[in-house]
Parts: sequence; C-alpha cells; structure tokens
Amino acid sequence: MKQFDITQDPEDLITDYFDGLHSGGGRSSIKGGQTAANQALETLDIRGYAKKRSEVLPVHKRGATVLSPYIRHNILPLKTVWDGVSSAPHYDKEKFRDELLWQEYARHLYARVGTRLFENLRFEQTWDEEGDGWPEGMACVDAVVDELNTDGWLVNQTRMWLASHWSVRNQKGWLHGQEKMHQQLLDGSRAANLLGWQWTVGSGTGKPYGFARWQVEKRAPSLCGSCPLKNNCPIQEFPETHQLDQAPPEPLLAADPSPELTAGPLVPIQKQKPERVLLTIESLGDSDPAMVANPELPVAFVFNEEALRKLQLSSKRIFFYLETLQDLATRRNVSTYIGDPIQFANQNSVAITHAPVPSFSKFQNVAEVHPYPWLRLPHAGSVKSFSAWRGKLHH
Ligand SMILES: Cc1cc2nc3c(=O)[nH]c(=O)nc-3n(C[C@H](O)[C@H](O)[C@H](O)COP(=O)(O)OP(=O)(O)OC[C@H]3O[C@@H](n4cnc5c(N)ncnc54)[C@H](O)[C@@H]3O)c2cc1C
Repeated sequence: MKQFDITQDPEDLITDYFDGLHSGGGRSSIKGGQTAANQALETLDIRGYAKKRSEVLPVHKRGATVLSPYIRHNILPLKTVWDGVSSAPHYDKEKFRDELLWQEYARHLYARVGTRLFENLRFEQTWDEEGDGWPEGMACVDAVVDELNTDGWLVNQTRMWLASHWSVRNQKGWLHGQEKMHQQLLDGSRAANLLGWQWTVGSGTGKPYGFARWQVEKRAPSLCGSCPLKNNCPIQEFPETHQLDQAPPEPLLAADPSPELTAGPLVPIQKQKPERVLLTIESLGDSDPAMVANPELPVAFVFNEEALRKLQLSSKRIFFYLETLQDLATRRNVSTYIGDPIQFANQNSVAITHAPVPSFSKFQNVAEVHPYPWLRLPHAGSVKSFSAWRGKLHH
C-alpha cells in the first residue's frame, strides 16, 4: 500500500504514482470535485432541454447538461438533481427527470443481474467479435471519437452513433466497443455504459438502432460539409436491421427473489466503532452517507492498483478522481493510497457506504455500512424494459 499526499499537483501525482495504471489521454476540460459539481448545479438551466438534448453541433445548441460525471460518482446524488429542477418548465422537467430515472434504472438493473450485464441480455447480437468498429475516414465518426478521446464525454446522441456504428453496421463485438468507451468516459459506469450499449445494439430490446447520414445532417450538419466522403458517403443508407433472435432467458430479469440484497442495507449497520471513513468510486460527494454520519473521522480513498492496471482507464478519469479528492481535502482530513481497498478495509476499522455493484461483496470485514442513496428503492418486479421497471416503482 503506497500513500501519497493529495494536496500535490495532480500532474506530478500522475507521473510519480500512476505509471502503468492508465492509458494516457491527457486531462478533460470537465473538472472533478464537489465545488465544480455545485457550481454546475447552481447554474443549471434546463429550459428547452426536451427539444435540445439530442443536439450535437454547433456546441452552443446542445441542451445536454454535462452533469453525468458528477451524477455517476454521487458527487451529485440523483435526488439532489431531481429536486434541483423543481421550478423548471413542466415539459422540460418531465423529460429531464425521465433521464434521471434511466440512470436509476441502469443502477437497479446492474445491482440485480451483476456481471450478467456483460453478455447479450435478451437478444443475440454480435458480442465478442474482435476488431475496430470505428475505422477512420468519415468526418462524423472521427469527430465523435476525437471528442471522446479529448474530453471524455459525449452527448447521448453521439454515444448511440458510436455504439450502432461499431456493432450494427460494422458487426464488431459490442463488448469491446463498450470497453473502449468506458476507458475514456468521465461518467463511465458499468451500469449505464452496458445498458447504453445493449439498448442501442439491440441485445437489450431486440431492435437495433440504425445510424446513418440522416442523423448527422439533422444533429450536426456542419460535419457532412467538411467530410472527404461527402459525395461517397458509406452511411448514406441505414444499415439493414431486423428483429434479433432471443437469447437464453435470464430469470432475474422477470423477478428478483431477494430485492433486499439488491438494495443493500436500508439503515446503517454497525459491527464495531469505525475509526475512518473509506470512500469508494461509487460515492465521492460530500453527502456520502458514511462521511455525513461520521463528521469527525478522517477519510481514506484507496486507488485499486490491480483494477487500474487491468482496466487501463484514460488519465482523464484519474485526473477527475484526484481533483475530486483534492477538493474534498479542503474540508476533510483525506488520506489517499494506491493498493487494495479490500485489504485496507480488513486492516482498518472503516465506515463505508454500500455500493450496488458486484465487487462490493468483497468487503466482508467492515465496521459500519451505510445505505446507498437510491432515488427509488429496487423492487422485485420485472426489469426487462425501462417501462416495465418504472411501472413497479413505489412513489
Ligand atoms: C452507448 C451509450 C453509453 C453510455 N454510457 C454511459 C455511462 O457510462 N455513464 C453514464 O452516466 N451514462 C451513459 N450513457 C447515458 C447517457 O448518454 C449519458 O448519461 C448522458 O449523455 C450524459 O450527459 P448529460 O449529463 O449531459 O445528460 P443529460 O441529458 O443532461 O441527462 C441528465 C442525467 O440523466 C442521466 N441520463 C441521461 N440519459 C441517460 C441514459 N440514456 N441512461 C442512463 N442515464 C441517463 C445521466 O445521469 C445524466 O447526467 C450512455 C448512453 C449510451 C447510448
């Protein structure tokens, strides 16, 4: 376990401590931290969101809020964002809150089916085929891949373009495409990224989404004008799509035999008095329940060395975490390490917030566990589709 001083310049920290633990890719213009997140929420204006959320270019026409990196890490919990738009115009508010529910749906689905979400969920689609589904040459795909690699963020519309182009048109395995996207995205989560891919390529719905010149002309018309292939467009027509064959049924999609395990504890569970709070990547905000319950305790974060070596995330993501922890360190006593978070929890008496991801079950030896900040509690009913799931929610 290596400890480092989080108040140092993040550029130096990356050089000194993260060698071999990322795949490069610079730093995003989107800043990490509660202070940046609060600013984004304070200046949030969703008037016109419903109409503009899918706009791509020019950038000033975009209606997307770019809150996702903060929401993904619970720096802004969904409930805070939900309440934050209460005075917005009705139609925009409804559309925006629908999208927040998609995020919650992704979390419920992943909490329930776990690593099963890495395979075709309901329908057969090209899954593991090797190869690059974003070959260079088309201005539209090049521009979007460039934005992904430069800033680590994309509007929903262009994420769908990339996922569709990779698998629906180019027939490369979506598992590899989602991994490439996950490495770059500041908001990259297995829950939302796997859901996004499965729903776009059709393995979640049976109906693949087709990407063609039509969407580019509608959402980012300037791209076609500058494209070397504008008179010979390889995506002039929609790719041929058809209803996909059923995959072997997954019983967990229809019903959850143990929704209480899926949700995690609903009240804090104390086995022994904690001496520190241990944060995880799933909950990095000031409102982290374990931190709020223990305002006097020092806080620790352990970068998972083995996972980082394997995942080879972009340095943009590491910068985002360092900035977040550095910001937190202006308000709390924060210690940062590179090593094994499970070992840390075994060797220290820690309070931690439950995380609805499969790897959380490795934390067997924890002094105090706090409930996850759900927007809605997981239920036992169907999660086959967003509307089936939504219909069973308690209000
Ligand atoms: C292929 C693909 C991969 C994706 N990967 C991720 C991912 O790794 N992490 C991630 O958070 N989202 C992912 N999404 C969902 C969505 O594209 C992003 O959440 C959204 O683009 C983030 O931008 P925003 O904050 O401006 O969104 P806004 O339009 O402003 O929406 C507000 C919030 O609602 C939530 N949201 C919006 N759309 C969705 C959606 N379709 N699914 C789930 N949540 C949604 C996000 O938390 C978002 O911040 C993916 C979508 C696709 C199609």
